Amino acid sequence: MVMKIQFLGGASKVGSLGMLLDHGQDLLLFDYGFLPSKPPGFPMDAPPVKTCYFTHSHIDHSGMVPWLCSRHNTTAYSTPVTLAASELLFRDSIKVTNLEGFAFPYDEEDLMATRDNLRDMRFGETRKEGDLEITSHPAGHIPGATMYEVMNREVVLFTGDINTVNTELVWGAKPVKCDTLVLESTYAGRRHPDRLQLEHDFLKKVRATVERGGIALVPAFAVGRTQEMMLLLSKKRFDLWVDGMGKEISRIYRSFPESVRNPRNLRRVMKDSRQVRSETGREKALRGEVIVTTSGMMDGGPVIRYMERIANDPRSGVFITGYQVQGTNGRLLRDTGMIDLHGVKVKVKCEVSFFDFSAHADHDDLLDFIDGCDPEKVVLCHGENREDLANDIEGREVLMPMEGEWLEI
Ligand SMILES: [Zn+2]
Repeated sequence: MVMKIQFLGGASKVGSLGMLLDHGQDLLLFDYGFLPSKPPGFPMDAPPVKTCYFTHSHIDHSGMVPWLCSRHNTTAYSTPVTLAASELLFRDSIKVTNLEGFAFPYDEEDLMATRDNLRDMRFGETRKEGDLEITSHPAGHIPGATMYEVMNREVVLFTGDINTVNTELVWGAKPVKCDTLVLESTYAGRRHPDRLQLEHDFLKKVRATVERGGIALVPAFAVGRTQEMMLLLSKKRFDLWVDGMGKEISRIYRSFPESVRNPRNLRRVMKDSRQVRSETGREKALRGEVIVTTSGMMDGGPVIRYMERIANDPRSGVFITGYQVQGTNGRLLRDTGMIDLHGVKVKVKCEVSFFDFSAHADHDDLLDFIDGCDPEKVVLCHGENREDLANDIEGREVLMPMEGEWLEI
Protein backbone atom coordinates (compact mmCIF):
# COMPACT_ATOMS: atom_id res chain seq x y z
CA MET A 1 0.00 0.00 0.00
CA VAL A 2 1.39 3.39 -0.96
CA MET A 3 1.29 6.01 1.74
CA LYS A 4 1.40 9.71 1.03
CA ILE A 5 1.95 12.70 3.26
CA GLN A 6 1.22 16.39 2.86
CA PHE A 7 2.27 19.22 5.16
CA LEU A 8 -0.50 21.75 5.78
CA GLY A 9 2.09 23.94 7.50
CA GLY A 10 5.40 23.71 9.31
CA ALA A 11 7.43 21.98 6.57
CA SER A 12 10.00 24.63 5.65
CA LYS A 13 9.35 26.76 8.75
CA VAL A 14 8.97 26.41 12.48
CA GLY A 15 5.34 26.77 13.57
CA SER A 16 1.80 25.79 12.50
CA LEU A 17 2.73 22.17 11.92
CA GLY A 18 0.18 19.81 10.39
CA MET A 19 0.87 16.60 8.49
CA LEU A 20 -1.81 14.67 6.61
CA LEU A 21 -1.22 10.97 6.07
CA ASP A 22 -3.14 9.24 3.27
CA HIS A 23 -2.91 5.49 3.81
CA GLY A 24 -5.19 4.49 0.95
CA GLN A 25 -8.23 3.83 3.16
CA ASP A 26 -8.49 7.10 4.99
CA LEU A 27 -6.78 10.34 5.96
CA LEU A 28 -5.14 10.91 9.33
CA LEU A 29 -3.76 14.17 10.66
CA PHE A 30 -0.66 14.46 12.86
CA ASP A 31 -0.40 17.74 14.78
CA TYR A 32 -2.36 20.82 13.84
CA GLY A 33 -1.06 24.07 15.26
CA PHE A 34 -0.73 27.76 14.61
CA LEU A 35 2.14 30.17 15.12
CA PRO A 36 1.35 32.55 18.00
CA SER A 37 2.86 35.60 16.27
CA LYS A 38 1.25 39.00 15.64
CA PRO A 39 -0.83 38.36 13.58
CA PRO A 40 -1.02 34.60 14.20
CA GLY A 41 0.19 32.35 11.37
CA PHE A 42 -2.29 29.63 10.40
CA PRO A 43 -1.77 26.39 8.45
CA MET A 44 -3.78 25.42 5.35
CA ASP A 45 -7.33 24.28 6.12
CA ALA A 46 -7.45 20.60 6.92
CA PRO A 47 -9.96 18.44 5.04
CA PRO A 48 -12.51 16.50 7.13
CA VAL A 49 -10.55 13.87 9.07
CA LYS A 50 -12.02 11.47 11.60
CA THR A 51 -8.86 11.28 13.68
CA CYS A 52 -5.95 13.49 14.63
CA TYR A 53 -2.93 12.58 16.75
CA PHE A 54 -1.14 15.51 18.28
CA THR A 55 2.31 15.32 19.80
CA HIS A 56 2.34 17.94 22.56
CA SER A 57 0.70 21.00 24.01
CA HIS A 58 2.85 23.73 22.41
CA ILE A 59 0.46 25.85 20.38
CA ASP A 60 2.41 25.46 17.13
CA HIS A 61 1.57 21.74 17.27
CA SER A 62 -1.86 21.74 18.92
CA GLY A 63 -3.48 25.17 18.62
CA MET A 64 -5.80 24.30 15.69
CA VAL A 65 -7.13 21.07 17.21
CA PRO A 66 -10.28 22.77 18.60
CA TRP A 67 -11.02 24.17 15.12
CA LEU A 68 -10.68 20.67 13.72
CA CYS A 69 -12.93 19.14 16.37
CA SER A 70 -15.60 21.83 16.09
CA ARG A 71 -15.52 22.04 12.28
CA HIS A 72 -15.18 18.33 11.38
CA ASN A 73 -16.10 16.56 14.62
CA THR A 74 -12.61 15.02 14.60
CA THR A 75 -11.47 12.87 17.52
CA ALA A 76 -8.04 14.05 18.73
CA TYR A 77 -5.64 11.84 20.71
CA SER A 78 -2.72 12.74 22.93
CA THR A 79 -1.28 11.89 26.34
CA PRO A 80 -3.44 12.78 29.39
CA VAL A 81 -1.05 15.53 30.56
CA THR A 82 -0.95 17.02 27.06
CA LEU A 83 -4.74 17.20 26.95
CA ALA A 84 -4.91 18.92 30.34
CA ALA A 85 -2.21 21.49 29.47
CA SER A 86 -3.66 22.04 25.98
CA GLU A 87 -7.09 22.98 27.30
CA LEU A 88 -5.47 25.73 29.33
CA LEU A 89 -3.45 26.92 26.33
CA PHE A 90 -6.45 26.86 23.98
CA ARG A 91 -8.35 29.16 26.36
CA ASP A 92 -5.32 31.40 26.72
CA SER A 93 -4.93 31.63 22.90
CA ILE A 94 -8.53 32.83 22.56
CA LYS A 95 -7.95 35.43 25.29
CA VAL A 96 -4.63 36.68 23.92
CA THR A 97 -5.71 36.99 20.26
CA ASN A 98 -8.92 38.75 21.34
CA LEU A 99 -6.88 41.22 23.41
CA GLU A 100 -4.56 41.80 20.48
CA GLY A 101 -7.56 42.34 18.18
CA PHE A 102 -6.91 39.47 15.75
CA ALA A 103 -9.58 37.21 14.27
CA PHE A 104 -9.44 33.71 15.72
CA PRO A 105 -10.94 30.50 14.30
CA TYR A 106 -12.71 29.22 17.44
CA ASP A 107 -14.16 30.47 20.71
CA GLU A 108 -14.95 29.30 24.25
CA GLU A 109 -18.21 27.68 23.11
CA ASP A 110 -16.35 25.61 20.52
CA LEU A 111 -13.99 24.51 23.26
CA MET A 112 -16.82 23.39 25.51
CA ALA A 113 -18.55 21.60 22.65
CA THR A 114 -15.43 19.69 21.64
CA ARG A 115 -14.17 18.58 25.04
CA ASP A 116 -15.42 15.03 24.49
CA ASN A 117 -13.50 14.87 21.21
CA LEU A 118 -10.20 14.93 23.11
CA ARG A 119 -9.12 11.41 24.11
CA ASP A 120 -6.27 9.93 26.14
CA MET A 121 -3.51 7.87 24.59
CA ARG A 122 -0.72 6.86 26.96
CA PHE A 123 2.92 6.10 26.16
CA GLY A 124 3.24 2.56 24.86
CA GLU A 125 -0.43 2.36 23.88
CA THR A 126 -1.33 1.17 20.36
CA ARG A 127 -4.47 2.11 18.40
CA LYS A 128 -5.75 0.62 15.18
CA GLU A 129 -6.68 2.81 12.20
CA GLY A 130 -7.84 0.49 9.40
CA ASP A 131 -4.78 -1.60 8.54
CA LEU A 132 -2.47 0.71 10.49
CA GLU A 133 -1.28 0.43 14.04
CA ILE A 134 -0.28 3.62 15.81
CA THR A 135 1.90 3.55 18.92
CA SER A 136 2.85 6.43 21.21
CA HIS A 137 6.48 6.88 22.40
CA PRO A 138 8.03 9.55 24.67
CA ALA A 139 9.70 12.41 22.77
CA GLY A 140 11.56 14.17 25.62
CA HIS A 141 11.02 17.91 24.87
CA ILE A 142 8.31 18.63 27.51
CA PRO A 143 6.13 16.43 29.75
CA GLY A 144 3.72 14.33 27.69
CA ALA A 145 5.44 15.02 24.34
CA THR A 146 4.92 12.05 22.03
CA MET A 147 6.37 10.53 18.88
CA TYR A 148 3.93 8.43 16.84
CA GLU A 149 5.03 5.17 15.26
CA VAL A 150 2.75 4.29 12.33
CA MET A 151 2.99 0.68 11.24
CA ASN A 152 1.66 -1.39 8.39
CA ARG A 153 4.17 -3.25 6.21
CA GLU A 154 6.55 -0.37 6.73
CA VAL A 155 7.12 1.78 9.78
CA VAL A 156 6.87 5.56 9.74
CA LEU A 157 7.92 7.59 12.78
CA PHE A 158 6.53 11.10 13.21
CA THR A 159 8.61 12.86 15.88
CA GLY A 160 6.85 16.15 16.60
CA ASP A 161 9.41 18.11 18.66
CA ILE A 162 12.11 15.98 20.27
CA ASN A 163 14.88 16.34 22.78
CA THR A 164 17.30 13.47 23.23
CA VAL A 165 19.20 14.78 26.25
CA ASN A 166 17.89 14.41 29.79
CA THR A 167 16.76 17.65 31.39
CA GLU A 168 15.69 18.30 34.98
CA LEU A 169 12.08 17.89 33.87
CA VAL A 170 11.99 14.95 31.41
CA TRP A 171 14.08 12.05 30.14
CA GLY A 172 15.48 12.35 26.62
CA ALA A 173 13.80 10.55 23.69
CA LYS A 174 15.11 7.16 22.55
CA PRO A 175 15.28 6.26 18.83
CA VAL A 176 12.61 3.93 17.35
CA LYS A 177 13.56 1.68 14.41
CA CYS A 178 11.66 2.78 11.31
CA ASP A 179 11.70 2.82 7.48
CA THR A 180 10.68 6.46 7.15
CA LEU A 181 11.54 9.07 9.75
CA VAL A 182 9.57 12.34 9.68
CA LEU A 183 11.88 14.50 11.76
CA GLU A 184 11.66 18.01 13.17
CA SER A 185 14.76 20.08 12.36
CA THR A 186 14.35 23.27 14.40
CA TYR A 187 18.03 23.29 15.40
CA ALA A 188 19.50 22.02 12.13
CA GLY A 189 22.89 23.68 11.66
CA ARG A 190 23.09 24.81 15.27
CA ARG A 191 24.70 23.32 18.34
CA HIS A 192 23.76 23.80 21.97
CA PRO A 193 26.36 24.57 24.60
CA ASP A 194 27.19 21.72 26.95
CA ARG A 195 24.17 21.37 29.22
CA LEU A 196 26.00 21.02 32.53
CA GLN A 197 28.28 23.97 31.76
CA LEU A 198 25.23 26.04 30.79
CA GLU A 199 23.45 25.19 34.05
CA HIS A 200 26.59 26.01 36.02
CA ASP A 201 27.05 29.40 34.27
CA PHE A 202 23.40 30.29 34.77
CA LEU A 203 23.39 29.47 38.48
CA LYS A 204 26.63 31.41 38.94
CA LYS A 205 25.13 34.54 37.35
CA VAL A 206 22.01 34.26 39.48
CA ARG A 207 24.09 33.75 42.61
CA ALA A 208 26.26 36.84 41.85
CA THR A 209 23.14 38.96 41.30
CA VAL A 210 21.58 37.89 44.58
CA GLU A 211 24.85 38.42 46.45
CA ARG A 212 25.13 42.04 45.29
CA GLY A 213 21.60 42.67 46.53
CA GLY A 214 19.77 42.61 43.20
CA ILE A 215 16.80 40.70 41.83
CA ALA A 216 17.45 37.91 39.33
CA LEU A 217 14.53 38.01 36.88
CA VAL A 218 14.13 34.86 34.80
CA PRO A 219 11.61 35.18 31.96
CA ALA A 220 10.48 31.66 31.01
CA PHE A 221 7.84 30.05 28.81
CA ALA A 222 4.94 28.73 30.88
CA VAL A 223 5.03 25.25 29.38
CA GLY A 224 8.13 23.27 30.34
CA ARG A 225 10.70 26.05 30.75
CA THR A 226 9.21 27.54 33.96
CA GLN A 227 9.31 24.12 35.63
CA GLU A 228 12.80 23.36 34.30
CA MET A 229 14.07 26.65 35.75
CA MET A 230 12.33 26.03 39.09
CA LEU A 231 13.97 22.59 39.35
CA LEU A 232 17.37 23.96 38.43
CA LEU A 233 17.19 26.96 40.78
CA SER A 234 15.99 24.77 43.66
CA LYS A 235 19.44 23.18 43.75
CA LYS A 236 20.79 26.42 45.25
CA ARG A 237 18.05 27.20 47.75
CA PHE A 238 17.29 30.74 46.58
CA ASP A 239 14.28 32.66 47.81
CA LEU A 240 12.35 31.74 44.67
CA TRP A 241 9.12 33.32 43.43
CA VAL A 242 7.03 32.09 40.52
CA ASP A 243 4.52 34.18 38.58
CA GLY A 244 2.40 33.78 35.42
CA MET A 245 0.71 30.85 33.68
CA GLY A 246 3.64 28.55 34.46
CA LYS A 247 2.12 28.13 37.94
CA GLU A 248 -0.98 26.43 36.55
CA ILE A 249 1.08 24.31 34.17
CA SER A 250 3.20 23.19 37.15
CA ARG A 251 0.07 22.06 38.99
CA ILE A 252 -0.98 20.07 35.91
CA TYR A 253 2.44 18.39 35.70
CA ARG A 254 2.29 17.60 39.41
CA SER A 255 -1.05 15.85 38.93
CA PHE A 256 0.42 13.64 36.17
CA PRO A 257 3.54 12.40 37.98
CA GLU A 258 4.24 9.76 35.32
CA SER A 259 4.93 12.58 32.83
CA VAL A 260 7.95 14.04 34.63
CA ARG A 261 11.40 12.66 35.32
CA ASN A 262 11.36 13.17 39.07
CA PRO A 263 7.86 13.95 40.43
CA ARG A 264 9.18 14.16 44.00
CA ASN A 265 11.56 16.99 43.06
CA LEU A 266 8.78 18.84 41.28
CA ARG A 267 6.49 18.53 44.30
CA ARG A 268 9.28 19.72 46.58
CA VAL A 269 10.21 22.78 44.54
CA MET A 270 6.54 23.74 44.23
CA LYS A 271 6.24 23.56 48.00
CA ASP A 272 9.49 25.44 48.65
CA SER A 273 8.98 28.24 46.10
CA ARG A 274 6.47 31.01 46.55
CA GLN A 275 3.63 31.69 44.17
CA VAL A 276 2.68 35.25 43.25
CA ARG A 277 -1.09 35.63 43.31
CA SER A 278 -1.66 39.39 43.55
CA GLU A 279 -0.09 42.82 43.20
CA THR A 280 0.90 42.64 46.88
CA GLY A 281 2.58 39.34 46.07
CA ARG A 282 4.56 41.06 43.31
CA GLU A 283 5.83 43.64 45.78
CA LYS A 284 6.93 40.85 48.11
CA ALA A 285 8.62 39.01 45.24
CA LEU A 286 10.60 42.17 44.48
CA ARG A 287 11.97 41.97 48.02
CA GLY A 288 13.02 38.35 47.42
CA GLU A 289 15.89 36.98 45.33
CA VAL A 290 14.81 35.18 42.15
CA ILE A 291 11.60 35.54 40.10
CA VAL A 292 10.64 33.09 37.34
CA THR A 293 7.81 34.45 35.24
CA THR A 294 6.07 34.62 31.85
CA SER A 295 6.14 35.67 29.14
CA GLY A 296 9.29 33.95 27.96
CA MET A 297 9.76 36.44 25.12
CA MET A 298 8.84 39.40 27.33
CA ASP A 299 5.90 40.40 25.13
CA GLY A 300 3.47 40.96 27.97
CA GLY A 301 2.61 39.06 31.12
CA PRO A 302 3.91 39.79 34.63
CA VAL A 303 7.54 40.00 33.44
CA ILE A 304 6.85 43.56 32.24
CA ARG A 305 5.75 44.63 35.72
CA TYR A 306 9.03 43.36 37.14
CA MET A 307 11.09 44.90 34.34
CA GLU A 308 9.60 48.31 35.10
CA ARG A 309 11.03 47.99 38.57
CA ILE A 310 14.47 46.52 37.90
CA ALA A 311 15.39 48.06 34.53
CA ASN A 312 17.25 50.92 36.21
CA ASP A 313 18.90 48.87 38.91
CA PRO A 314 22.47 47.87 38.00
CA ARG A 315 22.53 45.34 40.85
CA SER A 316 19.67 43.35 39.28
CA GLY A 317 19.81 41.08 36.24
CA VAL A 318 17.46 39.64 33.64
CA PHE A 319 18.42 36.18 32.45
CA ILE A 320 16.69 35.15 29.23
CA THR A 321 16.24 31.37 29.07
CA GLY A 322 14.99 30.56 25.58
CA TYR A 323 15.03 31.43 21.92
CA GLN A 324 13.74 34.95 21.20
CA VAL A 325 11.82 35.35 17.93
CA GLN A 326 12.60 38.42 15.78
CA GLY A 327 10.26 41.29 16.62
CA THR A 328 9.70 40.30 20.27
CA ASN A 329 10.63 42.43 23.25
CA GLY A 330 13.08 39.78 24.46
CA ARG A 331 14.89 39.85 21.14
CA LEU A 332 15.06 43.66 21.28
CA LEU A 333 16.56 43.45 24.76
CA ARG A 334 19.05 40.79 23.78
CA ASP A 335 20.20 42.60 20.62
CA THR A 336 20.14 46.25 21.77
CA GLY A 337 19.89 46.37 25.57
CA MET A 338 16.62 48.31 25.16
CA ILE A 339 13.16 47.21 26.24
CA ASP A 340 9.74 48.41 25.13
CA LEU A 341 7.75 49.39 28.22
CA HIS A 342 4.24 50.42 27.21
CA GLY A 343 5.32 51.78 23.84
CA VAL A 344 8.47 53.54 25.07
CA LYS A 345 11.87 52.05 24.34
CA VAL A 346 14.07 52.26 27.41
CA LYS A 347 17.77 51.52 27.76
CA VAL A 348 18.16 49.15 30.69
CA LYS A 349 20.84 49.50 33.36
CA CYS A 350 20.44 46.04 34.86
CA GLU A 351 22.55 43.13 33.65
CA VAL A 352 21.20 41.20 30.63
CA SER A 353 22.35 37.67 29.78
CA PHE A 354 21.12 34.96 27.45
CA PHE A 355 21.13 31.21 28.16
CA ASP A 356 20.24 28.68 25.47
CA PHE A 357 18.04 26.31 27.50
CA SER A 358 16.54 24.66 24.45
CA ALA A 359 14.17 21.69 24.70
CA HIS A 360 15.04 20.59 21.14
CA ALA A 361 17.66 18.17 19.90
CA ASP A 362 20.50 20.09 18.24
CA HIS A 363 22.27 19.32 14.95
CA ASP A 364 24.47 16.52 16.32
CA ASP A 365 21.68 15.09 18.49
CA LEU A 366 19.47 14.89 15.40
CA LEU A 367 22.18 13.05 13.44
CA ASP A 368 22.64 10.55 16.29
CA PHE A 369 18.88 10.10 16.52
CA ILE A 370 18.67 9.36 12.78
CA ASP A 371 21.38 6.74 13.08
CA GLY A 372 19.58 5.16 16.02
CA CYS A 373 16.28 4.95 14.10
CA ASP A 374 18.17 3.70 11.01
CA PRO A 375 15.53 4.64 8.39
CA GLU A 376 15.88 4.36 4.60
CA LYS A 377 14.19 7.72 4.17
CA VAL A 378 14.33 10.86 6.25
CA VAL A 379 11.68 13.54 5.75
CA LEU A 380 12.87 16.80 7.29
CA CYS A 381 10.27 19.30 8.45
CA HIS A 382 9.72 22.09 10.99
CA GLY A 383 12.99 23.91 10.33
CA GLU A 384 14.43 26.85 8.45
CA ASN A 385 17.86 25.31 7.82
CA ARG A 386 16.91 21.80 6.70
CA GLU A 387 19.67 21.75 4.05
CA ASP A 388 22.35 22.03 6.74
CA LEU A 389 21.14 18.80 8.28
CA ALA A 390 20.49 17.11 4.92
CA ASN A 391 24.12 17.75 3.93
CA ASP A 392 25.34 15.76 6.92
CA ILE A 393 23.04 12.73 6.48
CA GLU A 394 24.84 9.89 4.70
CA GLY A 395 23.53 6.76 3.03
CA ARG A 396 19.84 7.61 3.28
CA GLU A 397 17.31 9.28 1.05
CA VAL A 398 16.50 12.75 2.38
CA LEU A 399 13.31 14.58 1.45
CA MET A 400 12.45 18.19 2.17
CA PRO A 401 8.86 18.75 1.05
CA MET A 402 7.29 22.19 0.88
CA GLU A 403 3.92 23.12 2.37
CA GLY A 404 1.07 21.74 0.25
CA GLU A 405 3.20 19.26 -1.68
CA TRP A 406 2.13 15.56 -1.65
CA LEU A 407 4.96 13.15 -1.04
CA GLU A 408 4.93 9.38 -1.56
CA ILE A 409 6.71 7.61 1.28
ZN1 LIG B 1 7.36 22.15 21.17
